[in-house]
Amino acid sequence: MLLNGPTLFVLSALVLSYLVTGLARRLNLRCLSDVIPPEFEGVFDPGQYRRSQEYMRAGARLEQLRESFDTFLACAFVLAGGIGWADSLARGLAGRLGLGELGVGLTFLGGLALAQAVLSLPFDVYATFRLEARFGFNRTTPGLFIADRLKGLALGAILGGTLVSGVIWAYMRLGSAAWLAAWGVVAGFTALMLWLGPAWLLPLFNRFTPLPPGELRSAIEAFAARHGIGLDGIFVMDGSRRSAKANAFVTGLGRKKRISLYDTLMDRLSHEQVVAVLAHEVGHSLRRHILKGFVTAMLKTGLLLAVLQAMLASAPLQLAFGVAQPSVHVGLAVFALAYQPLALLLAASANALSRRFEFEADAFAADSPERAKALAGALKELSVANLANLNPHPLAVWLHYTHPPVLERVRRLEDAARAGEAGMPTHN
Ligand SMILES: [Zn+2]
Repeated sequence: MLLNGPTLFVLSALVLSYLVTGLARRLNLRCLSDVIPPEFEGVFDPGQYRRSQEYMRAGARLEQLRESFDTFLACAFVLAGGIGWADSLARGLAGRLGLGELGVGLTFLGGLALAQAVLSLPFDVYATFRLEARFGFNRTTPGLFIADRLKGLALGAILGGTLVSGVIWAYMRLGSAAWLAAWGVVAGFTALMLWLGPAWLLPLFNRFTPLPPGELRSAIEAFAARHGIGLDGIFVMDGSRRSAKANAFVTGLGRKKRISLYDTLMDRLSHEQVVAVLAHEVGHSLRRHILKGFVTAMLKTGLLLAVLQAMLASAPLQLAFGVAQPSVHVGLAVFALAYQPLALLLAASANALSRRFEFEADAFAADSPERAKALAGALKELSVANLANLNPHPLAVWLHYTHPPVLERVRRLEDAARAGEAGMPTHN
């Protein structure tokens, strides 16, 4: 068993983040209340409301089980010298294939990623075909599930492989400037994905059909004209192939926006409500939330890559994990485990920013009292449809929520609608 300073550090990092997320989950479950908030009276019926709480509890139990399993396995792997074992396995395999150090790194990291995908498969199967199915969300067929997994693996291998190769190469070749070069690689790659992702990657998983002319299309066009937005198509996405949950999104970097609506959204909401949801999405786009999110994510990445560089400089640190020789890929793997608590903190700060963006997009959408009411109505409808938690615990919100609790959003929108009707400006 490998018991030394560095392995103990990694172990405590894993256990600490496990305990913090577990605590947030427990507190969150304790916040569940049988009382329907007044804003949701008449929207949620008591039976549905109880179901939403059962859904939360069942989901939380599954997540807790998954995290316990993952944490136990990761700790056991580190303690049993698994990292050294996987490294020598990768070296043997890559050696037989005549691959160099980069090939060893890709074999090592690819092997670990594949093992992780296989180990999480039972949980994914259970979540999709038991949990989501029990609450009436799942529409994924086994064939679609397998196709999705295979496509995901292939994409992960191509995209992840390219990215990781760039990073490993930078650290192997470029000395003290490596983290800067790696940063450039990651930033360029992420920007490319943001740019090409919607047009290239999404159609691999879903079908997009143009929204036929009619009342809804006219309403969307009227909204776009009012805000001077050029439309690069309005599409309906077959979200119902996988799930009954509903959503919408807007893509496009310039003034021209491409709008995609889940078919499930159109089934659930009135035309005014669909336009209000779109107005919110357009708000994200016009307030440059994607760009701002990208910049903050890249600042975080730069910090992590600099820390990684400092860590890679220490050979004894890596040898503590049972490897025969230090390498960039082992450094990456150890770093990925050790930085879990920091990852939680960084994710929490990114989520806080994201929640602010949500309020901004809501405020943009509330350009008239009618629209503010329509958006509030849509959010209520969607939280019923998606069985959202109406009373999350603040710690859970702080750690995990990319969106503010729906009740807070509804209250702000209804306040804005009232203020607008009383003649006060609704924009802030
Ligand atoms: Zn949003």
